[in-house]
Amino acid sequence: MPNNHADTQMVTHNSDISVNDSAFDPVALFAWYDRHGRDLPWRHRWPALAPAYHVWLSEIMLQQTVVATVIPYFLDFTRRWPDVTALASAPLDDVLAAWAGLGYYARARNLHKAANKVAFELGGIFPADVGGLRDLPGIGPYTAGAISAIAFGQHSTVVDGNIERVLARQYAVTTPLPAAKVEISAIYAAIRPDQRPSDFPQALMDFANAVCTVKAPGCSSCPLATSCIAGRQGTAASFPVKTAKKPKPARRGIAFVAFDAEGRCLLVKRPDKGLLGGMLAFPSVGWDHRAPDSVASLDDAPFAADWVILDDPVQHVFTHFALDMQVAVTRLDTGISPDLPDGIDANWVTPRAADLPSLMRKVLKAVQPHYP
Ligand code: SF4
Repeated sequence: MPNNHADTQMVTHNSDISVNDSAFDPVALFAWYDRHGRDLPWRHRWPALAPAYHVWLSEIMLQQTVVATVIPYFLDFTRRWPDVTALASAPLDDVLAAWAGLGYYARARNLHKAANKVAFELGGIFPADVGGLRDLPGIGPYTAGAISAIAFGQHSTVVDGNIERVLARQYAVTTPLPAAKVEISAIYAAIRPDQRPSDFPQALMDFANAVCTVKAPGCSSCPLATSCIAGRQGTAASFPVKTAKKPKPARRGIAFVAFDAEGRCLLVKRPDKGLLGGMLAFPSVGWDHRAPDSVASLDDAPFAADWVILDDPVQHVFTHFALDMQVAVTRLDTGISPDLPDGIDANWVTPRAADLPSLMRKVLKAVQPHYP
């Protein structure tokens, strides 16, 4: 990947240095990045800066989601909605449907809110500074730093989990995460060069992803080995130090999959607020604590029928709990739709995995061998 930047040969550091950073070599990092950095659809190389709309969209999609999953969603979003005003003008339901499968759906609702704010209150222009960006829905300190550095070339602090790992190893940070975040941010600010501010965090992320990996760091051929304490000590695998995680609490629930005589399924639109808010889903109970007293049994079915519970529950992990979802299935052969409870926003539709959130895709997959 050709990229010749004369300024990589003479790199100066941010003057506010609070750690001993004399050994860290941004020139070596940039040289590695110029040869091995990923070409991503939202990425530009210094001195070109990527459009803020693209950087923002990709950063929101990348929260909790890997690059390979994000790429087709990013391309689809930017094809449908080429700029922030187009996205803001789209109905929220269209945005949620396009987001289906990416998970963490609050992100999509915040994305739409933030697009509205930028398009209709800020004249279609994203703020360049961290403070202004943090005023937008769904943008925390990391995302604000990333957008201001990558889209605007600002010298902000950008520390995600990948950068944390590289710096914790380089400086053998023994404080466990998450307490170490402050220390690692200070290291980042101290070693951040003045040159190529948009490339620096992206180079570190790619380097972490390709060389300083979680399980098999390539210390023997690492271009940053000279400055790396953990690499020299052979202790890379011990960093970053993490506070032991508590196991996630377990929840149970039942999803009800009803087929009509034409092979359509009963799908509901979930309430806008809460888990899988606003998404299409099979009727389900017990797991989302909307009815905490429910014991999640067949008595909770949306209508009386011959329900059969499949042997194997579907398993799904949310950020704050692990779910065992039983799947109850029935087929109505009469051609007569049953009465549904009042207030339920439901329709008989041919289910398409692409329209469903990940949990409900798993439910659909579980029933298909039995009810193709
Ligand atoms: S020497 Fe090893 S631990 Fe250190 S930065 Fe390189 S790959 Fe990572």
